Amino acid sequence: MSNTWAEIDLDALKRNIEYIRRRVGEHVRIMAVVKDDGYGHGAREIAEALIPAGIRWYGVANTLEGVVLRSVDTSVSIMVLGPVFSEDIPDIFAYRLTPIIVDYETAEQLDREAARRKTRIGVHVKIDTGMGRIGVWHEDFRRFIKDVKRLKHVSVEGFLSHFPASDTDIGFSRAQISLFKQVVETADQEEIKDCLLHMANSAAIMKIPASYFDLVRPGIMMYGLLPSPTFGGKYDISPVLSLKTRVSFIKKIKKGMTVSYGRTYKAKKDTVIATLPVGYGDGYNRHLSSRGRVLIRGKYAPVVGRVTMDQTMVDVGRIPGVKVGDEVVLIGKQGKNSITAEEIAKLVGTIPYEIVCAINKRVERVYVHRGSEHMAKNNL
Ligand SMILES: *Cc1c(COP(=O)(O)O)cnc(C)c1O
Repeated sequence: MSNTWAEIDLDALKRNIEYIRRRVGEHVRIMAVVKDDGYGHGAREIAEALIPAGIRWYGVANTLEGVVLRSVDTSVSIMVLGPVFSEDIPDIFAYRLTPIIVDYETAEQLDREAARRKTRIGVHVKIDTGMGRIGVWHEDFRRFIKDVKRLKHVSVEGFLSHFPASDTDIGFSRAQISLFKQVVETADQEEIKDCLLHMANSAAIMKIPASYFDLVRPGIMMYGLLPSPTFGGKYDISPVLSLKTRVSFIKKIKKGMTVSYGRTYKAKKDTVIATLPVGYGDGYNRHLSSRGRVLIRGKYAPVVGRVTMDQTMVDVGRIPGVKVGDEVVLIGKQGKNSITAEEIAKLVGTIPYEIVCAINKRVERVYVHRGSEHMAKNNL
């Protein structure tokens, strides 16, 4: 095992999913969003844990991620949330991925390939109602859907849209919802009946019940994190990922001595410095230099000096008895104290998503089940 590892608590994941299910209701389907290797948690293992929990839809960023996920299960639906490139089309068919369509040319190419293979391809149409990223602009939808419906080998099975500000601008989000409804109604009534409509990401699941439609697409919330460090409200979720390491070296230093590159930290008094085998090369953000903190022996130890690629120093002058090999928590709980991805995101000026996605391949993922007792307690 490596000396820096991420512990993934699959029971916490299942509890978070159960909470989402309670929140959206039994009749609404859940698409677990597992792009970017499951937000750094490991898409394969996340899916392996969620399939027995009844989750039948998975969202990935691109075809390659879809191909990897298909090896986990042959029957679940895997939606590629990004646009399809023509090079991807053979894999879309071979691995039975569900593409979204955002332009007529790609829809035509999919139709041609489906015809060649003597089959049909199910697609969802992405509508841009204000995200400004990908999708058929809502004003162009009527025309677009007419054209797509003429394609004999393409079946439109769903319509989706995405929120740019479901965490910060409920008013704009509500306007998007009305727009989405209006636009979709212009598609053939019969067709909508059998179609899945979906819009909600985590923030919408937490704040806007009117966004649920037939399916919701939680990402960050499923991993037990809030969309932003300042996101308000109480939600019954807990973080799935903890990031841990071990003390690799200890030394006493004298007042006036400096620590790490650039000599940005100078000891104000004699103290003890512990070195940790983790750095920005693992995804421990360099902006945590002299700003972050870690947990050792249940107490907070501040990061001193620059975080380097592979190693980081912390001041343990106020924590007695620290030894080489002691477990250190960078994200997670130790004793009564904790450090959250939200706290780190705030310190480095980003969002919790980036903190977990940044955890590098070099960091081993260790999957833990905390046992049924813990689960039972939390399910009451
Ligand atoms: C990433 C993504 C989601 C999930 O977003 P969260 O904020 O993590 O819940 C949902 N839908 C689409 C289209 C996405 O790209």
